Amino acid sequence: MSEQLKIKDGIVVSLEYVLRLDDGEVVDASDGDALVYLHGYGEIIPGLEKALVGLAVGDSKTVIVPPGEAYGEVDMEAFEIVPRSMFPDDMELVEGLELSLRDAETDEPFDATVAEVRESEVMLDFNHPLAGETLYFEVTIPALRLATEEELAHGHVHGDDDHHH
Ligand code: ZN
Repeated sequence: MSEQLKIKDGIVVSLEYVLRLDDGEVVDASDGDALVYLHGYGEIIPGLEKALVGLAVGDSKTVIVPPGEAYGEVDMEAFEIVPRSMFPDDMELVEGLELSLRDAETDEPFDATVAEVRESEVMLDFNHPLAGETLYFEVTIPALRLATEEELAHGHVHGDDDHHH
């Protein structure tokens, strides 16, 4: 038997998790399809990555991550008012609606949330939907393994399926 693996840089971690907000609402969960990531390469939010160090297979933990170590504080300058006419007439715009838009000039895709709907204007919020939120994770560790040399060189996990670059 080799020494039991524990989470540290260079370990490929399988992570089962449930993510709740302050009010208990579940906003994300792995649901039996574990997230697999390479530890130490910033693939997951910093506050969660830090808290997982030292865990072994079978361990469970509750991790509370403040906004500053998750998706950041709400940036009050990341709101913009646009004309209602920017959207199709038959589109039902309601507060909280998440939009995938494309910049008219650069053609870059970006996400926004409808913050407020007025008669002829719409206020868009370009913050991450979880900005300003404290995140409550319940995690368990179903599997750990050492990363391959290639994975370490690339800084990400290679799955069973074909990996293209
Ligand atoms: Zn790769």
